[in-house]
Amino acid sequence: MLFNVQDCRLTGMENKLRYYLEKNKAKVINLVSRLIGIPTINPPGKNYEEMTSLLERECKKLGLVTRKYITPKSIIDKHKVAGGSKRINLVADLNAGHKKVLHINSHYDVVPATDKWKTNPFKAVVKGNKICGRGSEDMKGNIASVLFALKALQDCGIKPKINIQLSFTPDEEIGGGTGLGYLVARGLVKANYAMSEGYSGNYISIGNKGILWAEVEVVGKSAHGSMPYKGVNSFERMNMIVNELEKLKNKILKKKTKYNMRDTISKSPSFVMGGFIEGGGKVNVIPGITKFSIDRRLIPEENINAAKMEIETVIKKFNNRYKDSKVNIKFVSQGRPVVSIKDKEFFKVAAESIKFVTGKKANFSVMPGATDMRYFMQKGVPSLGYSARGEEKWHSDNEFVCINSLVNTAEVFALIMSRLS
Ligand SMILES: [Zn+2]
Repeated sequence: MLFNVQDCRLTGMENKLRYYLEKNKAKVINLVSRLIGIPTINPPGKNYEEMTSLLERECKKLGLVTRKYITPKSIIDKHKVAGGSKRINLVADLNAGHKKVLHINSHYDVVPATDKWKTNPFKAVVKGNKICGRGSEDMKGNIASVLFALKALQDCGIKPKINIQLSFTPDEEIGGGTGLGYLVARGLVKANYAMSEGYSGNYISIGNKGILWAEVEVVGKSAHGSMPYKGVNSFERMNMIVNELEKLKNKILKKKTKYNMRDTISKSPSFVMGGFIEGGGKVNVIPGITKFSIDRRLIPEENINAAKMEIETVIKKFNNRYKDSKVNIKFVSQGRPVVSIKDKEFFKVAAESIKFVTGKKANFSVMPGATDMRYFMQKGVPSLGYSARGEEKWHSDNEFVCINSLVNTAEVFALIMSRLS
């Protein structure tokens, strides 16, 4: 928004920034378009070299000192990442001679695009207030906003009160362990305060729900379709165990977090079965093995081990009751819920900057989804999630980002950089 009723309260610096950002928005549109043009599709993780080269050039133009880290094979193997580009992590520092560091992370990989797109997903299309393209909202738009914020500070002659460190990392879309997770675990990045992907507008995220993924295998006994009594139908048994788990689910859904969430439904944990199903191959065969997945999301008050136990108990009871079939469970992925420790100064500066730009009171909320922000949070670094927005259609067809959000988000970042110390 350009010059609203609050202008009487703006200082010279803030006036200048807002004017600059609005007047030069072609820069941010141009950059996000170029980023969309490099299809960093993950899996398998393509064109990472080209992407990090472009970003490195942009950072150098802004006077940042850059370094690159290639994720070692041991980490790649540990996370079962196969194929694709070398995993390149770009870190860029702006040392303004201060003691503290504000780290801003962005991931540059994007999820694949289906053939349902109305336009080429890897060619940015600018129409009115929208820029359409894969990754525009998740999260190449934000990369452009952060760099635009630095450019604005520079061109307006405003010096940050804190050292700025940026990181551009791969593989958030497959868990982040081979991207930001690696940088943080190895101590290759430093932060007194951290920011990464999150909400937008007047919402800012302070944490992520936990995640527990499981694969359930129901083993019966295969037989000919004409003589079902000779087998045990694993599909029908699956149906029965699903009914038992449904009772657990209804109990779990009654819980509510005390933390702020953007919507009331998200205040509860979630429990989704059947995102993945496998089994049966032929109409006249009694299916011997049927598999399905569980995606359980935990609120901050919950604990992973307890969540595992609840599920295991239901399965154990079931197995005791039906001895002619066997239900096995394998937990394939997990991450505990995280909430940032509260840093008064950081949260205050962020809240004031957001209020300034959006005109609305900042709302600090926990996000249902998991983002790379958790790596800093787990280390006890005060962290906030904030990014440019489209329609929050992150992984869907015809994803877009709004130009006014790119500009406003850049303003929020610029204000935080110039106010936080
Ligand atoms: Zn993302």
